[in-house]
Amino acid sequence: MSTHTEATVPMCVNWHVTETCNYGCKHCFAKWGKQREVWEDTDQVEHIIKGIADYVDTTCMIPKRFRLNIVGGEPVLHPERLWNVVKAAKDNGAEISMITNGSHLEVIRPFAHMISQVGLSIDSFNHETNLKIGRACNGKTLSFEEIKEKIKYVQEINPKLKIKINTVVNKYNFSEQLLNSVLALKASKWKIFRQMPFGENKGISDFMFYSFIRNNYKELDRYRDGCEITIEDNNAMTESYLMISPDGRLFQNGSTEYSYSRPLTEVSFAEAIQDIKFNEAKFDGRYDGSYTWQATNAMEKFFGIENPLNPFASILGDI
Ligand code: SF4
Repeated sequence: MSTHTEATVPMCVNWHVTETCNYGCKHCFAKWGKQREVWEDTDQVEHIIKGIADYVDTTCMIPKRFRLNIVGGEPVLHPERLWNVVKAAKDNGAEISMITNGSHLEVIRPFAHMISQVGLSIDSFNHETNLKIGRACNGKTLSFEEIKEKIKYVQEINPKLKIKINTVVNKYNFSEQLLNSVLALKASKWKIFRQMPFGENKGISDFMFYSFIRNNYKELDRYRDGCEITIEDNNAMTESYLMISPDGRLFQNGSTEYSYSRPLTEVSFAEAIQDIKFNEAKFDGRYDGSYTWQATNAMEKFFGIENPLNPFASILGDI
């Protein structure tokens, strides 16, 4: 990975440890055909994570650290398996982050001190919208107050735990304004994604995506109140993540189906990377703000905005 040698942040590997989730979002692309899940086997978990550590050690990458981002499905539904992954990552010197829908965030409290960042996938704070999206379990959705309480509960153990919010813009939430609530949760990052076309799901229109940006993003506020806002259109999201499937293979998006490497239990991490399409420039571009800039520029062009330096002056007021 030539360009990554100049990176200032650790290489990030997203391990989708499970497909199981208590929610049923219509736009969910965490689908792998119910594979055998490697995280059921502690030895294999250690083998894969050590393989990543060896890869980082043997390339000329700087810094010589990696971040394991534990993703699902919903990783907290099996707390002990999650703990085994966290422990193996810690033993191999990794920084640890995770993504969760937040419904059972309290589960991580015993080992919250080992986690640097929790990403909460939140598409709306509105009950009806969440029901439409499928972001619900037996009709129960997560309210803003509940999220706030759960964050407080885990931050009692780790006050430095960073909170990131991930939002997928979809046909049910595109006209909503989430910015104030995201800032009120004291998130250090808010990542706004455009719903990916996947399988039967066709994604969303430019109008919907750019409307959401227009209603939620102000250039001058990119770092407002300590919260960095980033935006990824579909192009930015393809072939630009290092992702491990539940059965322990690197996989890649970029078309309506995933492509896979050989199993990381059988080949090295370096060999597995050769099996998939992986775009280093896009991977590194994630950290320099270029995707956000591209998306906001496209939004301005779409709506014919003539004053790009202050396009939001009247839309949100002084918030
Ligand atoms: S919460 Fe995440 S993993 Fe679960 S159904 Fe929704 S998008 Fe998929």
